[in-house]
Amino acid sequence: MQLIDGKATAKAIKGEIRAEVEELTSGGQRPPHLAAVLVGHDGGSESYVAFKIKDCEEVGFRSSLIRFEDDVNERVLLEKINELNNDPELDGFIVQLPLPDHINEQKLIEAIDPGKDVDGFHPVNVGKTVIGLPSFVSATPYGIVELLKRYKVETSGKNCVIVGRSNIVGRPMSILMSQKSINATVTVAHSRTRNLEELCASADILIAALGSPGFIKANMVKEGAVVIDVGTTRVPSTETKSGFRLRGDVVFDEVASKCSLITPVPGGVGPMTRVSLLLNTLKAAKENI
Ligand code: NAP
Repeated sequence: MQLIDGKATAKAIKGEIRAEVEELTSGGQRPPHLAAVLVGHDGGSESYVAFKIKDCEEVGFRSSLIRFEDDVNERVLLEKINELNNDPELDGFIVQLPLPDHINEQKLIEAIDPGKDVDGFHPVNVGKTVIGLPSFVSATPYGIVELLKRYKVETSGKNCVIVGRSNIVGRPMSILMSQKSINATVTVAHSRTRNLEELCASADILIAALGSPGFIKANMVKEGAVVIDVGTTRVPSTETKSGFRLRGDVVFDEVASKCSLITPVPGGVGPMTRVSLLLNTLKAAKENI
């Protein structure tokens, strides 16, 4: 078994991005600029946004954090989005999800200019991805494809089973894996899927994205399979300062000995998700999507 080291891969990609930024700025262009809109003070969202800002600093991007209180009016957010859409000094921006219940998330996503939608959530970007046009692809599936490429995983003609069909992970992942550049034969499983154990055990590439810690056990994994564990569920822990640790959807210890390649949690898909937002922002600064 070989470990797919997402942390090391993300670090290498950050180095590549930094080099590109230096090239851009030495040619007289301003550095890429990412903004994050954060509503409220949810602990998870605060730390995700803080990581995004730190990542920008590391690669030489400019970043802006725009904060609103929990009780902000939807109209105020829509006005801010309109302002960001029209800001020529800004390449891309994200609205950190989830949002408070009184805000219509989808309405906000659809208000973002698709050319600045570096999260890749706008229906125009999703649609372009489906038909294989240049687009912003949502960060987690993008990062997983990059990992598969960099670890030279053979995908052509392989059976790929994806457990989970969310709009940000499972579904876009299935689209990417079935594209002509990747050529996998894809099955998307979900909570109504029958014979899930057998289905997973038939996969050459198994992508677990359901958010159920330890769900995928050794009997669900084919000998020699490539296993990508997207799951990151916070579980209480007495061993960490924060009082919790992240658990994946795969029982790593029993599955690792059976497969050819596997991502750990943490240190697998997570760092690649973060770096993919930087890749999308760089793309936004360089190209017209
Ligand atoms: P989500 O929106 O809750 O979707 C979960 C999907 O899994 C749904 O499609 C659901 O089926 C399916 N599912 C749930 N239980 C199942 C079961 N017992 N059998 C078969 N399918 C089942 O979750 P998400 O946003 O995609 O996230 C999934 C996991 O990935 C979470 O742990 C999340 O924290 C993690 N995540 C990690 C990263 C990262 O960077 N590492 C990024 C994003 C998400 P139905 O559609 O039928 O309900």
